[in-house]
Amino acid sequence: MFNRVIVWFRNDLRVHDNAPLFNAVQKAKEVIPVYCFDPRNFSKMELGLEKTGNFRAKFLLEAVTDLSQNLRSLNGDLLLLKGKPEERLVDLALQIHADAIFFSEEVTSEEKEVEFKLEQHAWKQGIKTSSYWQSTLFHIQDLPFPIMQTPEVFTQFRKECEKFGKIQKPLPVPKRIPFPKEKFETIELPKLSTFGLKEPVKSTRSVLEFVGGETEGLGRLQAYFWERDQLKNYKETRNGLLGPDYSSKFSPWLAIGCLSPRIIYEEVKRYEKEREKNQSTYWLIFELIWRDYFRFISKKHGNKIFQLTGIKYKVEKYSRNESLFWKWAKGETGIPFIDANMRELNNSGFMSNRGRQNVASFLVNDLGMDWRWGAMYFESMLIDYDVCSNWGNWMYVAGVGNDPKDDRYFNTLRQAKNYDKKGEYIRHWIPELAAIPGFDIHQPFELPPSTLKGYGISLGVTYPHPLVKLKAWI
Ligand SMILES: Cc1cc2nc3c(=O)[nH]c(=O)nc-3n(C[C@H](O)[C@H](O)[C@H](O)COP(=O)(O)OP(=O)(O)OC[C@H]3O[C@@H](n4cnc5c(N)ncnc54)[C@H](O)[C@@H]3O)c2cc1C
Repeated sequence: MFNRVIVWFRNDLRVHDNAPLFNAVQKAKEVIPVYCFDPRNFSKMELGLEKTGNFRAKFLLEAVTDLSQNLRSLNGDLLLLKGKPEERLVDLALQIHADAIFFSEEVTSEEKEVEFKLEQHAWKQGIKTSSYWQSTLFHIQDLPFPIMQTPEVFTQFRKECEKFGKIQKPLPVPKRIPFPKEKFETIELPKLSTFGLKEPVKSTRSVLEFVGGETEGLGRLQAYFWERDQLKNYKETRNGLLGPDYSSKFSPWLAIGCLSPRIIYEEVKRYEKEREKNQSTYWLIFELIWRDYFRFISKKHGNKIFQLTGIKYKVEKYSRNESLFWKWAKGETGIPFIDANMRELNNSGFMSNRGRQNVASFLVNDLGMDWRWGAMYFESMLIDYDVCSNWGNWMYVAGVGNDPKDDRYFNTLRQAKNYDKKGEYIRHWIPELAAIPGFDIHQPFELPPSTLKGYGISLGVTYPHPLVKLKAWI
């Protein structure tokens, strides 16, 4: 039994199914939950991009606030620190005479480096550490293969996991957190301006108002499955583009751990018992297995996922033309389906999976750009940024991942025809083109200037000329 354990919260901002918290409560007389704002996560990357853009930063601050409230309702509290966790957590442990630091394990190098240094510092001071794997549906120890033999191809990975893997039951919320009586130093919750970020402007066009925190995440789970009863249609609707319910929208909460994948799994199983079991209910689990897959593949391949050649050792020709890149990023390519998606990202921090595949393929295949710039832009902008899902999916689309298919070219116009036949998505995000009827809105560049003039559009003035000529779509 420990006297005092610090629980260091990372991307596991919840009290349900939280292994470090649950174990600390079992093993320690006193438990001190801590969150540390690491300034490195708010620094600038290449191209002057913020590592954490304002949508995600806001979502994170909301999640930390909610965690603190949830811990208080369990008699606990949350101390806030600012600085390098590997130093600040150990300083705190020494100051308050904690015996150990418990935390959840991450996958990629920056996070592992922090863990490694924290362990070294702590051990030197005689402070114990315990790390817990908990971000995936299948626990790493329950995989039917050693991590270095993770199947490269998704289908094989999924089949082996489904057949031989095990999904653990979520851990319960602790009944009470034994938080010490004394007062500890803590910082005020930072503001966006502390990180040099501006308050994001709310867009009424956004698919959903995403609010960070476990309470909101569980609320969305309840709403999507039970109140709005959408799970039974998921497989048919999941490629949609507009509205809150074409897909679950769980990703922002999953990314920072406000929702545990195992709680989602349990709810799917309950839904199957109480409402309906069909292909859609299975498909949500199927997608969560994709999430696991990218996590385990990232663990297997380490830093290769951040390299141009990815895990395929395939060197492609690529360009790093900044002006082209910014046209893509700002949604000024003159290709409405691409621009609408990028506008959605820039104005809400979210984009559908269909949109992500298309804009990624366009950047890589039509503009011939370095895919890592796209991945970095997503890292900055996405409210649901998840290092493994993001870089893994980008590698996949860029053709340097482990896709058995060699060519992942998304024909923009064909995709537009399949998923936005009437042009409603374009009308939603590019109102200056709204007067163009039907599918023509996807290809204003094919209309004669006189017709465009009738709609109040002048290419190159009210909407850009296309940056590239697209491949024919029929
Ligand atoms: C280029 C590119 C970049 C991406 N970057 C991210 C990212 O940073 N963070 C992120 O969470 N997802 C990322 N995705 C995957 C996917 O687009 C999102 O998870 C999904 O759109 C989120 O919406 P949802 O929660 O409504 O998904 P749903 O369709 O409801 O799926 C349920 C859950 O399954 C998981 N999931 C679904 N599709 C995928 C996938 N292809 N890969 C991994 N997990 C998946 C997510 O956790 C998602 O919340 C990316 C995809 C592409 C093509």
